[in-house]
Amino acid sequence: MEKHYVLLTPGPLTTTASVKEVMLKDWCTWDDDYKQIVQSIRAKLLDVGRASSDNYTSVLMQGSGTFGVEACIGTAVPKDGKLLVIVNGAYGQRIQEIADVLGIANRALVCTADQQPDIDAVDAILVDDASITHVAFVHCETTTGILNPLESLVEVVKKHGKTVIVDAMSSFGGIPIDVEELGIDFLISSANKCIQGVPGFSFVICRTDALVNCKGNARSLSLDLYDQWKVMEAEPGKWRFTSPTHVVRAFYQALHELEAEGGVDVRFTRYYENQRTLVKGMEAAGLQAYLPPYLQSPIITTFLYPSFEGFSFESLYMFLKEHHFVIYPGKLSDAQVFRIGTIGDVQPEDIERLCDAVQQYVQKMK
Ligand SMILES: *Cc1c(COP(=O)(O)O)cnc(C)c1O
Repeated sequence: MEKHYVLLTPGPLTTTASVKEVMLKDWCTWDDDYKQIVQSIRAKLLDVGRASSDNYTSVLMQGSGTFGVEACIGTAVPKDGKLLVIVNGAYGQRIQEIADVLGIANRALVCTADQQPDIDAVDAILVDDASITHVAFVHCETTTGILNPLESLVEVVKKHGKTVIVDAMSSFGGIPIDVEELGIDFLISSANKCIQGVPGFSFVICRTDALVNCKGNARSLSLDLYDQWKVMEAEPGKWRFTSPTHVVRAFYQALHELEAEGGVDVRFTRYYENQRTLVKGMEAAGLQAYLPPYLQSPIITTFLYPSFEGFSFESLYMFLKEHHFVIYPGKLSDAQVFRIGTIGDVQPEDIERLCDAVQQYVQKMK
């Protein structure tokens, strides 16, 4: 096969050849063989989230990650509910946009992109506004790569007896999360992030008691998480509408490969090594990370544009693409930045090669 680029753009991200290979077979969306794969995936997702099937269930939903967020927000919050969204980046912002479009009463706690949300501020809003029923936030804000304080955020929401919805899109499978021990009600992620599948569906790990109460809440037919769950339970493994069969089969393979690698803890260690290798190599090339290390996730890193005159993101992008790497533009309005992901089938050696290429670029352009 022709040499393709390494995607450092989560996501989609770089997947293994074996994940891609299993997509060469066609599957029937309602046949038992396929439905068993779906059921196995649903069980394995609970294992990855350390949630028991006594108290938790998982639901798969067609579409990219945002479809899963929209399905979850639109199904979890009842007609007379009110959502608090904690925002410190574009994906938190998107949750609020979803609530607005769906006509869900909401308010946002907006924090700056380079800081973790203030727990006391969340506490104060929940004391002040008793009409809030649900709180949503992003675990790893992929906008910058900042890691938000999952444990303390869930804790303060639970203290007030509210339902907590976590967008763990870019962290689930790559950062250990104790869904049950923390008492998370809904956790959303998708096929093409840290589990290292290909894009095509999202999934939600739900506290069963919370999901059971959601009948009739949905503002959409196709994005009704409750109905999707009912069908997946009644006819085990069946999706209501045509499912992305090849993607699902690839995801099943990806889950096996996560287990074979040693599980989430081992993958987390690899991602962290990738990330540390990246920052070290980029600093050697004269580039600075946007966030201090203590706020930084191992998922994606934001870098400030260097100050030398010849630099442009477009020229760096094209230079790296010629060297078989694809990076990500920035997503901040108040800082000139770009991003590099460190998740996927990517090893520290790949990151070292990337940093060598960046160094060559700097030498050429300076
Ligand atoms: C990737 C991502 C999403 C979903 O984005 P899609 O493009 O719809 O897959 C949502 N939230 C976060 C934090 C993400 O990283």
